[in-house]
Amino acid sequence: MSASAVSNFNATSMEDALRPDVSVVVPIYNEVESLPRLIEAIETSLQPTSLHYEIICVDDGSQDGSTDLLKRLAQDHTALRAILFRRNYGQTPAMAAGFNYARGWTIVTLDGDLQNDPADIPLLLAKLEEGYDLVNGWRKNRQDAALTRLLPSKIANLLIAQITGVQVHDYGCSLKAYRAELVADMNLYGELHRFLPALAFIEGARITEMPVRHHARQFGQSKYGLGRTFRVVLDLMTIYFMKRFLTRPMHVFGSVGLVSMLLGFGLGMYLTILKLGLGQQIGDRPLLIFAITLLLTGVQFFSLGLLGELLMRTYHESQNRPIYRIREIVE
Ligand code: UDP
Ligand code: MG
Repeated sequence: MSASAVSNFNATSMEDALRPDVSVVVPIYNEVESLPRLIEAIETSLQPTSLHYEIICVDDGSQDGSTDLLKRLAQDHTALRAILFRRNYGQTPAMAAGFNYARGWTIVTLDGDLQNDPADIPLLLAKLEEGYDLVNGWRKNRQDAALTRLLPSKIANLLIAQITGVQVHDYGCSLKAYRAELVADMNLYGELHRFLPALAFIEGARITEMPVRHHARQFGQSKYGLGRTFRVVLDLMTIYFMKRFLTRPMHVFGSVGLVSMLLGFGLGMYLTILKLGLGQQIGDRPLLIFAITLLLTGVQFFSLGLLGELLMRTYHESQNRPIYRIREIVE
């Protein structure tokens, strides 16, 4: 081992020793009334456990004074770190920032509106210790409007479970616990935080769920309306594609393209024989248009597959992202 490698090794092991056991990540957007109680509740829940913890609140461009309050709270609570966004980006970027700045071995996420109960955090962590990479909360007794929230959510959960193959009851529950190394492997875009269990599953994670408490919103109001349902469906398609074809776009597009081209070619040959062999008129036949459309579509799908292959290589190689994930190496 070279000298620099040795000092590197020491540096990392020292950093490792200082890492908290758990980072609690909370996205905050206009939750000024809830904030003080939230921090209290997290501290009350974690102090008795003797775990070394940090609380990371990501202020997502609040306009109600949450930002200043967070700054003040961070002075009184040494465990609290506040990350303040310049403007409102959305819950997913807020969570992604929390993940990036979290230093803990494990990460727990929850909402900043006190709908999740911080008292559940140690229970989730205990479950994680049983050997899982992700524990998903399940709001068995959810306190939200039945028609506009519970029903769409029920349908969405069934759909997501069907399509992703991850049998979790409550994707929308923000209260989750993760092993930090798992989160480091995942990139979040759009509103994909709802699909973290599915993304984790793609990365080969061991996933489980457990019932958690849920309370009605006491202060402020929900940041989402019914429009969310459509975005969930669109995101679901992205996830489905990622799960099936991320490393082999040519197999998807190429095969469709090939079938289409072959069909078009076959029909074209048939029409050619009619024209040249039997001297029939083919200029006014719908079949001719169909054959040409098939040929062109085929070529396009095929090229799309090729482009996909190029993009996929850039995706993996530009960030040194291997196409496999290792759980551990035993020697
Ligand atoms: N949130 C955020 N940025 C946004 C919208 C929401 O950081 O643009 C936070 C919000 O402060 C809360 C969590 O995300 O802590 C969940 O939001 P909300 O409670 O409105 O969602 P619901 O519980 O109604 O699904
Ligand atoms: Mg809420």
